[in-house]
Amino acid sequence: MPGIRVDVKNRRTPAGWAVGNCPHCGQVEAIQIDDVTQVTSIYWIPVYRRPLGQECCCDFCRRPVDPAEVAKPVIDRPLWSPPEGLPQLVEKMGGESGLAAPPTTDRRLRSLLDAVESEASLMRVDLGPGATWGAVLGAPVGLLLSLLAFEVGLAVKGIDRFGTGMFGLMTGGVVGLVASSVAYFRRARNKLARQRLATACENYGLDRARLADLATEFNSEVVRRAAATCRDEQR
Ligand SMILES: [Zn+2]
Repeated sequence: MPGIRVDVKNRRTPAGWAVGNCPHCGQVEAIQIDDVTQVTSIYWIPVYRRPLGQECCCDFCRRPVDPAEVAKPVIDRPLWSPPEGLPQLVEKMGGESGLAAPPTTDRRLRSLLDAVESEASLMRVDLGPGATWGAVLGAPVGLLLSLLAFEVGLAVKGIDRFGTGMFGLMTGGVVGLVASSVAYFRRARNKLARQRLATACENYGLDRARLADLATEFNSEVVRRAAATCRDEQR
């Protein structure tokens, strides 16, 4: 008997900015404060929202930061944006003015690459549209090839033209489904890594050549390729 589809997901809404010590980047960073709400949906229609409080993440590497490491007050989100730089954020929070922007260390860049690597490997992709297209295109190709095989006498003995056609149709559908799912997932992962690195480079004015150099130390091909693309796009 089919069950009722119920989804429970945590939704984060960006709420404000503060500064804090990021243990991954090893320096003071802009910290994004998010309101977290648990949303219960029945057949994708939200029916119940429960506020869970706030969570903090480093704006540079996007990894969680302990709220105890974050300085108050939190300023509203529209009041600052990352390209303005950390000294402006400190000033807007009522702190010292005229501070110098912190230098970008290799540790900070590795922290970014490391975060992107694990995000890309853990990402979940809704394969729905990509997989369906693969099956829809693969099935007729399979049918055609199997009928051709039947005509030239390559089909399995004892199976008639209809049986061979059905076999080709199903095999083509399955092969198309698997191939398109793999391609869709790889493309989504590469896109995520490229976007994350490009955003960090734009917001923080990073040295893209240095980032691409450091990325060669990583096992993940997704990260190495994304960093190289990021460097080449600037040229
Ligand atoms: Zn960080």
